[in-house]
Amino acid sequence: MSDCIFCQIVDGSIPSTTVYEDEDCLAFEDLNPQAPVHALVIPKRHIISLAKIQEGDQSVLGQLMIACSRVAQQKGLAEQGYRVVTNIGKEAGQTVFHLHFHVLGGRGFHWPPG
Ligand code: 5GP
Ligand code: ZN
Repeated sequence: MSDCIFCQIVDGSIPSTTVYEDEDCLAFEDLNPQAPVHALVIPKRHIISLAKIQEGDQSVLGQLMIACSRVAQQKGLAEQGYRVVTNIGKEAGQTVFHLHFHVLGGRGFHWPPG
C-alpha cells in the first residue's frame, strides 16, 4: 500500500468526497477548508509537485487545469471569481507531496498572498 495519502484517496482506502473525476484526475473536498469552497484537484498518478514534472506530463497537466475550471464552474464560482493555488516544497507550505491544485472560492482573497 502507498504511504501517500492522496494515492490512498485515489485507490479508495482513505475516504473523500469526490467533486469531479476523469480518466487522469480526481477532485475532492479539502478536509480542512480555508474558504466556503475548497477542493483539491490531483492527478491520479503520483507526481510530487510542479518541481518534479517531466517531459511526458503535458497532457495530465493540461487535464488538471481543465479539471480546476470544471470544479469552479460546478461550484458556481466562474462569474464571481476564485483562486487556484499549488504549493511547491516546504517553504511554500506544501504538506502533502502529491501534486494538487487548491480551488478556493466563495469569499474574497488578498494579494499578495500570505
Ligand atoms: P498543501 O499544504 O500540501 O498545499 O495542502 C494539503 C491539503 O490537503 C491541505 O489543505 C489539507 O487540509 C488537505 N488534506 C490533508 N489530508 C487530507 C485528507 O486525508 N483528506 C482530504 N480531503 N484533504 C486532506
Ligand atoms: Zn501520491
